[in-house]
Amino acid sequence: MAETAKRDRGSLRIDTDECKGCGLCIEACPPKVIHLSDHLNPYGYRTAAYAGAGCTGCGMCFLICPEPGAITVLRLARGLAAGKFADERVTP
Ligand code: SF4
Ligand code: SF4
Repeated sequence: MAETAKRDRGSLRIDTDECKGCGLCIEACPPKVIHLSDHLNPYGYRTAAYAGAGCTGCGMCFLICPEPGAITVLRLARGLAAGKFADERVTP
């Protein structure tokens, strides 16, 4: 039986210079699509990284992140072609 591919409803940008590697976003992400990378930022912190697929655009990572500007959530916008995301910052 053919499997229907699920389209991602969101995407993620992480500013690695702002990330302190606390891991809160990793714990909070329901589909578990964020991990800690081996990349060290200029302050010596390992930084969060997006898996590249599977984001639902829920915004939990943005809401729990203590570092302003570290995470931007992009949500799939109506009317845009598949895979195009609007640069919409999730706010409380
Ligand atoms: S917006 Fe939601 S699904 Fe997407 S990376 Fe953040 S917590 Fe995970
Ligand atoms: S919650 Fe923010 S500071 Fe902590 S690992 Fe995630 S992006 Fe980095």
